[in-house]
Amino acid sequence: MRAVVLERAGAPTNLRVADVTAREPGPREIRIAVRACGVCFHDVVVRNGTFRRGVEMPVILGHEVAGTVERLGAEVRGFRVGDLVATTIHSHVCGQCHNCRGGHETSCPERIFLGDAGLNGGYAELVCVDADAAVNVPACIASRDLVLVVVIGLPPYASLRVLDTTANQCEKMFRIVGSGAEAAPCAIRLLRSIRQ
Ligand SMILES: [Zn+2]
Ligand SMILES: [Zn+2]
Repeated sequence: MRAVVLERAGAPTNLRVADVTAREPGPREIRIAVRACGVCFHDVVVRNGTFRRGVEMPVILGHEVAGTVERLGAEVRGFRVGDLVATTIHSHVCGQCHNCRGGHETSCPERIFLGDAGLNGGYAELVCVDADAAVNVPACIASRDLVLVVVIGLPPYASLRVLDTTANQCEKMFRIVGSGAEAAPCAIRLLRSIRQ
């Protein structure tokens, strides 16, 4: 498959299109044919070398992925080939530790970030992620819109969820800054729809 590969941190010209062997999905993974992948500031700081923790080079960046299911692992349920899906920012979390069970999977000690741990990111024609790290989405949503909702919407959604689970906190005022603020109305609607 073709992918945008970063061999070493540096200028944007270090990003090169290369042929890479596509990985087969593991038993609990799906392989996604990528339609769109967002460019996040995380990608920028990994590319320029500012962020190094857990980064493995060469790397395929990209963690805001929208695409269609292209292949299924043997144990995967709930997806079919051709489904439109979006990913979380991780390709794997354990799903069993107290962080995962408490809804704080971004702190899972087994987490593998999608797009900075080697050749596992979304700037590629195909990408494998845990089936648990992807969600089915309606086909009416354009892929380029989907990648924005996936990551920009998560911080306000996570913040609101924490507030909402603490008694009577919803009356309090709070502020969401940065690009996530633009997605706050979506996050509020999402939270309301889940709570109903
Ligand atoms: Zn991001
Ligand atoms: Zn975990």
